[in-house]
Amino acid sequence: NMACAIHFVTADELRGRLPKRPKFSHKGTFGHALLLAGSKGKIGAAVLATQACLRAGVGLMTTRVPAVGYDILQISAPEAMCLADPATDFLTELPDLTPYAAVGIGPGLGQHDDTRAVLRQLLETAQVPLIIDADALNLLGAQPELQQLLPPDSLLTPHPKEFERLVGEPARDDYHRLDQLRNFAGRTGCYCVLKGAYTALAAPDGALYFNSTGNPGMASGGSGDVLTGLLLALRAHQGISPLAAALVGLHAHGRAADLALPHTGHAGLLASDIVRFIGPALEELM
Ligand code: AMP
Ligand code: MG
Repeated sequence: NMACAIHFVTADELRGRLPKRPKFSHKGTFGHALLLAGSKGKIGAAVLATQACLRAGVGLMTTRVPAVGYDILQISAPEAMCLADPATDFLTELPDLTPYAAVGIGPGLGQHDDTRAVLRQLLETAQVPLIIDADALNLLGAQPELQQLLPPDSLLTPHPKEFERLVGEPARDDYHRLDQLRNFAGRTGCYCVLKGAYTALAAPDGALYFNSTGNPGMASGGSGDVLTGLLLALRAHQGISPLAAALVGLHAHGRAADLALPHTGHAGLLASDIVRFIGPALEELM
């Protein structure tokens, strides 16, 4: 039974953790991120995560989508490069990982067998930080032996349903679920998020952090995809630790939604509105 340090994370503790952009920076300074996302009918998830990664200050961004998503992504995120998979409707091949500082996988991915093989190969070969979300988590839940391949310091971002599939056991109550979360982080050496109001983060050492930002307007499709892209940018950045990247990312995601709220109202808040306020939310922490 690990000693349980619990932190409620406020802006004050995060200020200054994300380095200011130096005057003489260039796009190489902020890392090149790769996102593996999308399947037929869910290319929007890849678009939202890509836009969020760009808005979070990544140096260069490449997104891998099935061929059906190529035009859609190039038009909706012209700042990103697009690498189309040879298959039309879902991902079947892992690209060469050499250029990338961090890799994100999951939004809109679907759970095809060929896509599971891509995930397996990524887990076996990646030498850089991974951010794992959505259907990539569901694939890990369906094939628990894949979880042994998780590189340490990876960052997983399940909501409660995805977390339940991941650990394969329903929680008795919220306390038990947080225990499961800390155990999972300890067992895998990964950082694991549990999304919701007051999103929790468990670190490999057993410490538990609660995010203080966000609002119920975020309870609609696409919000989580935005978080994945935001976290991917921060993990591609060379000047910030895995823990600080996770905490800054969770905070800025909720804060961006809080900044959007006066313009949209709760009902009108879309995931793309969160994207729009990522820049100002990060700026507040500089
Ligand atoms: P997903 O379910 O993957 O789309 O992720 C939803 C995102 O919205 C997560 O980052 C949640 O933390 C956030 N979210 C959902 N509902 C709420 C809520 N009631 N209050 C604050 N944040 C929320
Ligand atoms: Mg999601």
